[in-house]
Amino acid sequence: MKLCADKVFFSFSGKNVPVLRVSSGETVDVETMDCFSNQLRNEEDTLEQLDWDRVNPATGPIYVEGAEVGDTLKVTINKITLDKKGTVCCAENEGTLGHLIKGSNIHVVDVDENYCYYLDRAPIPLKKMIGVIGVAPEDKDINTGTPGRHGGNMDNLMVTEGASLYFPVFQEGALFGLGDVHSVMGDGEIGVSGLETPALINLTLEVVKGKAPIYPILENKDSFSTIVSKLTVDEAIVVATELMCKFLETKINLSRPDIVMLMSLVGDVEICQVVDPERTVRFVFPKRYMDDTSY
Ligand code: CA
Ligand code: ZN
Repeated sequence: MKLCADKVFFSFSGKNVPVLRVSSGETVDVETMDCFSNQLRNEEDTLEQLDWDRVNPATGPIYVEGAEVGDTLKVTINKITLDKKGTVCCAENEGTLGHLIKGSNIHVVDVDENYCYYLDRAPIPLKKMIGVIGVAPEDKDINTGTPGRHGGNMDNLMVTEGASLYFPVFQEGALFGLGDVHSVMGDGEIGVSGLETPALINLTLEVVKGKAPIYPILENKDSFSTIVSKLTVDEAIVVATELMCKFLETKINLSRPDIVMLMSLVGDVEICQVVDPERTVRFVFPKRYMDDTSY
């Protein structure tokens, strides 16, 4: 089953009309445009020509049969196939260095199986990742540029091939969507853009009854992470560590203080992005120290 990139939305919302219905456990191919809706695909293109109403398209929404409020939607990313070129930009007053640059600047960069090629620098190894991925939120609609409890624009470079995300289901069917794939991006995304690349994503959608997390939880091969977005990085760190502590209390047979000390020894606070309307951090904890490594 394949969903094409012409079926997009710009706001995660319980009012969005599903463009595809799947049953729990089904695998689908989803095509995504880049975060500019593929409007900047040549070096001559400029940010001035951009239609800002079409920024951050998410393909979907997909209705997952059986997903009810309070359930968990598990999304496993099996494969990300990148287009052959991506776009990076920076602009005045955008990102952490926006006060130091003038006007808008873009580069279109070639991408192959393993590397992308920025100007005359050493080839950059790919770090394929999905920037925007999530479900319809509880009450207010949330534009696709903003992260939150529903997921959204988390810009977490660990959201990559082989990873599974666990989202809280706030609306019947979950109304899942995704977009904003990057061929590569550094933690923080300081210049406000990764290497924005159209892509084809193969993923599996599965309903886990109940167990809705407060914020999305990410499972990679060797770790679990909590992913939290708040107005400041400081606030996000407190909540991300708190939620991980509570998660680990159900997975590790140790007292709370003993778990906190273990988190302090082997857990990592990492930055996802610092340029979106809310900042996103993750707390990463290795599976090898857990008694129970199931979700
Ligand atoms: Ca993004
Ligand atoms: Zn992006």
